[in-house]
Amino acid sequence: MFALRNTGKQALQRFYSAERFLWRLPAHAQAVALTFDDGPDPIHTPPLLDALRAAGIPATFFLIGEKVERHPELVRRMVEEGHAIGGHTWSHSEITALSADALAADLERCRAAMRAASGVDSVLFRPPRGKVNAAAIHRVCSRGYCLVHWTKTYSDYLKDGAGPLLQRMRRNPPAPRDIVLMHDHNAHTYEALLRAIPEWRERRLRFTALA
Ligand SMILES: [Zn+2]
Repeated sequence: MFALRNTGKQALQRFYSAERFLWRLPAHAQAVALTFDDGPDPIHTPPLLDALRAAGIPATFFLIGEKVERHPELVRRMVEEGHAIGGHTWSHSEITALSADALAADLERCRAAMRAASGVDSVLFRPPRGKVNAAAIHRVCSRGYCLVHWTKTYSDYLKDGAGPLLQRMRRNPPAPRDIVLMHDHNAHTYEALLRAIPEWRERRLRFTALA
């Protein structure tokens, strides 16, 4: 489904610094970064935040601007509870389909909404569906943003339920340096995580929010 493979990400990382392109935590990192796209969601984000708080796990949320505008209190809560936030476009547009000007305006609009909601001025950005090309990456990075991809996805977008999702998490658990892609606009991710987090804790995994 995703065109950008790990070999492509490795090549990009040689070209861009980790402040501009990030798909894996740096070599000295001992932690895992859990990331959640497509929120904030008034139904599904609060119980996920409850679970992360109970487990003492900081995460990173890539937010859709129009949802930030509708639910600023959830963005404030994320920041207050130690999570990082980043942009995910205003309305989930694929950035390869936007002109340079439209992309620049979209990035700034989403960033301003997050800033208004939380006081945090974030340059973290994740492209919807992970779709990028050389021009789009350059446009994002040259405007001072950090384009964040991932090392691991459990394909929670398949919507095949918490059971199969938990099985995929168990088959291939996170490891240090992983950036894990998930979503907080559904129930099955949260339900699977409630089972997976204690198991990951037993593996002595540590977790970090992206800086
Ligand atoms: Zn998305």
